[in-house]
Amino acid sequence: MGNVNINQVSEMLEKIVAKPSVELMSITPNAEQVIELACRTCYLSFHRYDPPSSTEELIKKVIRKGHHSVLEHAMATFRIKGGSRVFTHELVRHRLMSPSQESQRYVEYGKVRNYDVVLPMTIEQTEFKSRYLELATECERLYSEMVKADIPKEDARYILPNGTTSEIVISANFREFRHIFQVRCHPRAHWEIRNICLIMLEVMKKEASIVFHDFHIDRETNSASLIES
Ligand SMILES: Cc1cc2nc3c(=O)[nH]c(=O)nc-3n(C[C@H](O)[C@H](O)[C@H](O)COP(=O)(O)OP(=O)(O)OC[C@H]3O[C@@H](n4cnc5c(N)ncnc54)[C@H](O)[C@@H]3O)c2cc1C
Repeated sequence: MGNVNINQVSEMLEKIVAKPSVELMSITPNAEQVIELACRTCYLSFHRYDPPSSTEELIKKVIRKGHHSVLEHAMATFRIKGGSRVFTHELVRHRLMSPSQESQRYVEYGKVRNYDVVLPMTIEQTEFKSRYLELATECERLYSEMVKADIPKEDARYILPNGTTSEIVISANFREFRHIFQVRCHPRAHWEIRNICLIMLEVMKKEASIVFHDFHIDRETNSASLIES
């Protein structure tokens, strides 16, 4: 690395540390009224449609009674950046959610986008931090050398660590989001998916406060769980 001092080295290493960002790209307009009107079709009870009170009453009732299919009439789409491939691998297991994920076959690190990794807090607070970041940097260096030497990106990527970030856009209906939040915001879920799903849950609690009313966010444990309603 030439004539650089130890602080410069750690500054250079820090540059590859990613932070997650979550953006709500779209959501069904008037989502909760759409759900209410769809649900009222079952009973042709449109004469009872009187939002916001009728919406709250009906949606809470269907959630209590398990008539959750009506929640499928509303959808949301999120863009998530700065999450690792550990996180995306867990997230894409949700089969009723539609993902579009950055491809390591086509996207070249250091060219189309900068290379970065997630640094778990348990490692950040130890003497392993600099070795972790050095090795990740070395992996990326070897990756770039191999790509320059005409090794296909789809093969050079094998050297990259699990912590490598990956951009992803996901779409799902509200029923599936409730399921995802239930299992992924649980205290026993892995911290990275838990943290990112908590950000999405916070957004959904603002955007569709009735559908997600029964999720209680616990700031101390940084988790959420369903409360009886
Ligand atoms: C804490 C935790 C630990 C985990 N550990 C592991 C692990 O060690 N190894 C591993 O492989 N995975 C693991 N997983 C992933 C887990 O097994 C599921 O693949 C993942 O959580 C997706 O959940 P799901 O299948 O319930 O939901 P989704 O795919 O999101 O589907 C939503 C719901 O739709 C219904 N559904 C979907 N598809 C079907 C179907 N084909 N048939 C019937 N009903 C269906 C179910 O009710 C399901 O709950 C873990 C998940 C969690 C939360």
